[in-house]
Amino acid sequence: MLAGVAGLAGVGFCAACGGSSRHSANVRTPGHGSVAAAAGAVRPVRSQPEEIAHGVRTARAVALTFHGSGDPALARRLLREVDAAGARVTVMAVGRWLDEEPGTARAFLDNGHELGNHTQNHRDIDAMSEADSHAEIARCAERLKRLTGTAGVWFRPSQTRHASRRVRAQAATLGYRGCLSYDVDSLDFTDPGAPAITRKVLREVRGGSVVSMHLGHSGTVEALPVLLDGLRSRGLRAVTASELMGA
Ligand SMILES: [Zn+2]
Repeated sequence: MLAGVAGLAGVGFCAACGGSSRHSANVRTPGHGSVAAAAGAVRPVRSQPEEIAHGVRTARAVALTFHGSGDPALARRLLREVDAAGARVTVMAVGRWLDEEPGTARAFLDNGHELGNHTQNHRDIDAMSEADSHAEIARCAERLKRLTGTAGVWFRPSQTRHASRRVRAQAATLGYRGCLSYDVDSLDFTDPGAPAITRKVLREVRGGSVVSMHLGHSGTVEALPVLLDGLRSRGLRAVTASELMGA
């Protein structure tokens, strides 16, 4: 069973980081989820590192993934909301934020959430030289390792929804299982207000979805209780990306 090829429609922007995203012309390799593995599906040989946008659609779970930077007070509020709901989330941490807020990042990990690599400075990774994009991934990986003991399982490129072939290869070289894209864009970074965030996500989310969200926005924090309730009423648990993918 194949899962995870991101559609080309609705490419998102990471305004929190000030840049536009773009389409990648590269062919993307489908991802594979834990349900496929549990069902005995044989994983095809990987010819290149994977880009994964969602898990298998039979999963009764979703992964809420957060761009990891911004106001630590908002991040702590968000952590309290997800913990109170018994949800697990994944923070794709920007290395610079790890330098500034190691305690906040560590609190997510200590409470059972997952941290991934979202580059050191969140600049336009496709506009960089090969050496610079490698360094952006490697420097964030070093910080994650120092802080947590591992570099994490997932890499998410900066200022683009889709990882180029070069970036996927670099992430794989640095030990990442895959590049984590998403199939639901909450557009929370545009600060549309909590109801709009909740409505959009609940309209588009399905089993296996990976939802793109951002730390550092008060509307995101305010949306979470209703959003998590809505997921629950649809029979969808919020789990970490690794749990969703069976990593
Ligand atoms: Zn981002």
